Parts: sequence; C-alpha cells; structure tokens
Amino acid sequence: MSPDVLLPTAPIVRPDKDRFLNEENPFEAMMSRFDQAADLLDLEPGIYKVLRHPEKQIITSIPVMLDNGDVEVFKGIRVLYNTSRGPAKGGIRFDMNVTLDEVTALAAWMTWKCAVVNIPFGGAKGGVVCDPLKMSVGELERLTRRYTASIIQTLGPDSDVPAPDVNTNERVMAWIMDTYSMHMRHTVTAVVTGKPIEMGGSQGRREATGRGCMIVTKQALAHLGMPVKGTTVAVQGFGNVGSVAAQLLAREGCKIVAISDRTGGVYNAKGIDVDAAIAHVAKHRTLEGFKAGDAITNEQLLVQEVDVLLPGALENVITTKNAAQIRAKVICEGANGPTTAAADSILDDKGIFVIPDILANAGGVTVSYFEWVQDRGGYFWTEKRVNESLTEIMEQSFDAVLSLAKQHKVNMRTAAYMLSISRVATVHRLRGIYA
Ligand code: NAD
Repeated sequence: MSPDVLLPTAPIVRPDKDRFLNEENPFEAMMSRFDQAADLLDLEPGIYKVLRHPEKQIITSIPVMLDNGDVEVFKGIRVLYNTSRGPAKGGIRFDMNVTLDEVTALAAWMTWKCAVVNIPFGGAKGGVVCDPLKMSVGELERLTRRYTASIIQTLGPDSDVPAPDVNTNERVMAWIMDTYSMHMRHTVTAVVTGKPIEMGGSQGRREATGRGCMIVTKQALAHLGMPVKGTTVAVQGFGNVGSVAAQLLAREGCKIVAISDRTGGVYNAKGIDVDAAIAHVAKHRTLEGFKAGDAITNEQLLVQEVDVLLPGALENVITTKNAAQIRAKVICEGANGPTTAAADSILDDKGIFVIPDILANAGGVTVSYFEWVQDRGGYFWTEKRVNESLTEIMEQSFDAVLSLAKQHKVNMRTAAYMLSISRVATVHRLRGIYA
C-alpha cells in the first residue's frame, strides 16, 4: 500500500503534555517526550499512531526448580517496540521492580537510541521479576534458560538480539546463547551481544556504555568551555555503567568526588580512588564497607555541588522533588530514564546541560552492533578498532544532536528525540503499511 495512507486524515487527540498522571511511570515519561518531539516535527497522524504502540509484548510464566526442591514461578517479559530499521535490540534485566510499563518504555527508548546513533536496529527490552542477589548461580542459570526457551519464538540474529542490563552479565548472555543454539541445533553466536569474548563477544563491549558516557561528557564540557582536568564528578550506581564511566573520566583527569550504589554512597572532596572502589566491589559485590570519605545517601549524592552528575543506576531519581536542588552544571544520563519528564523543565530553567540517556548511554548498543557485525562476518576486531569506531559514532551523534538543538532552540533531549523519531518515521514512510 502506498505511503500516502500515512498522510493526515483526522486531527489527533494528544494527551495534555503538561499533565503528568504519574510522574514516575516510565512509559508516560517516554511518551511525553515523544509527543513533544512529534509536535515539533509535525509528525503525520498515521505515523504518530504507529510509533506510539509497541509491536509485540510477551508475558510468560517461568517455573524454576529452586535449590531446596521447591518450585517458584517467575514473571518474564519481552517487548519488541519497533523493528522498522532492523532486528530488535535491547537488554534483559533481572529485578524485583520490573513491570510491563517499564519494559515497554525501555524498549521504546532502545528504538530511539539505536536511531540516534544511526545503527540498523529496532528497539526491544526484556525483564524477569526476581531478586538475583538472593538466588544461587544454579537457580539463575535455570531461570535464564527457561526464560530463553519461553521467548524463543522472537529471538534470533535477524529478529531479536538481547544484551545485558541491570543484574545480568556476560555469563547470563552465554546461557541465553547456549540455550538458543541447543534449540537451533547449531551454534548461533549473533543471537546475543555482551557475551564473553571467548565465545564471540567483542573487545570493549563491557566498557562501552561507560566509555560512551565519558566521550559525550568530554564533548559537553568542551561545548560549555569547561576544562576536563579537575572537573568534579558524582556518579550514582557503581555497576557496569557507573564504575567504568567513573574510571575512564578519572583517567581523563576528572576528580570523582562521590560514588554510590544500592547500599549508599561516599563523598570525598579530594577525590576517590576509583580503582580501589572497583576492587572493593569485585570482592564484596557492593560498595558497603568502602571507607574512602564521608558516608552519604543516594539522595545526598544527587544534590552535591559538582560540575558533572552521572546518574548510572535506575530510572526516576531526578524528579520534581529534588530537581530544584541539583547543583551540577552537566548531567550525563548513564542510566535509562533517570530524569522524569516533569523534572526536565526545572533543569532547563536552572541552565543545566543534560546529555539525555538515549544519547549518553548509547555506547553499549553501538558496540553491541559491532559485536553482531563481527559474529555475522566471522571477524574479531581489535580493542583499538572498537574504541576508535565507538568514539567516532558517539562524537558524530553528539554533534548531530547539538546542532539540531541549536537549530530548533530546544534542549538536547528534545533534539535527540527529534533526530531519532524523524529517522524511524522516514523508514515507515518508505516502507508503507503492509495490508
Ligand atoms: P548493574 O547491575 O551493573 O549496576 C547497577 C548499579 O546500580 C549497581 O551498582 C547497583 O548497586 C546500583 N543500584 C541499584 N539500585 C540502586 C538504587 N536504588 N540507588 C542507587 N544505586 C542503585 O547495571 P548497569 O548495566 O550498570 O545499568 C545501570 C543503568 O544503565 C540501567 O538504567 C541500565 O538500563 C542502563 N544501561 C546499561 C547499559 C549496559 O551496557 N550495561 C547500556 C545502556 C544503559
């Protein structure tokens, strides 16, 4: 059918974008930014409707035999938001707070994120409602394999390619790859990214998201005329994203003055030895007991007087309740959705330069794309090549978003949404509606 069907037919009734029914509902947060960008792009009603709906949502029950012989049933979710530009791409998280709304919002963010950095993927996300810290390795493996089998109809290098997210890692990706390969009767390395290097993972993938945060933070500082050396940084979350970002920013000459994880945080005006913190977490799993300064709470970390704040844990930590107290000059959103939509305008009014999540943390999916390319071509790139290609893509994407922000006199978040939505919308116009 011709793309003309996507042209205006009737006026669209849009939700009032100044009314936040539930500030902390991530799907509403995503949608209100989407609406704002769609308005500025004057998106035609047909495409607007298509892009407001996830393509596919799978909810599945996952029975698992626990170590003590009991059977527990967990809830598993996989959402494919949009695959117009390529296979669905997006991480899998294991967390007690996983909900369908959250996973759908994260899947939409993946769609926009892949489009911001212009890699040929659509967006997906998955999650299992569980507390992995309370589960044994054997229980986690059984949970992962059964979850994989439950969603196997969507998985595949050409259709849906998971990756690590909160509380999942290389080992979990190895189990998914093995389970999928057993069902296919041959080894399929490209079905997941973020795998161990020995089985088709990419050099530099583990550090990629944190490295991307470092790259765009340096660009933001350059844009604002601020030096990198001596720049003070507070990092919330000390997992894959936060710890690597802190380490790489420290290597660039920044002073990391505050770090935190789920157990609380630490502040030291003289700077924190990030390598020592990483060694502590490697040994004890959390920052608890890491005495490198004054103990602070996660709430206190967010409002410290620093040059750069890097929220790198979970969503909804910068809200209308604390945005006015934030004293950072730059916020680099390492986590997905750390700022609620209602808090955006407060940060704007304070003149804080926000590098939005869909740009700031896109380094991970960019190197996932390199991993997928290597697996499909049977190549192994050097770490130097991976990091150089990542730097090029992150710098180009930052520049593209910044120039759109200047052109339309909007903030970086709105510009990033405009860029990505326009790219996805273009593909929908070209493909038309199959009937
Ligand atoms: P992770 O599991 O490796 O680390 C999460 C960290 O956050 C841990 O240090 C944990 O203790 C901390 N944390 C958990 N709850 C917290 C709380 N209530 N307050 C403060 N800290 C808390 O996860 P990750 O892979 O580093 O992901 C972190 C964020 O970055 C998530 O929003 C994820 O979606 C996003 N992200 C991750 C990647 C990636 O490649 N890993 C890519 C893009 C975005």
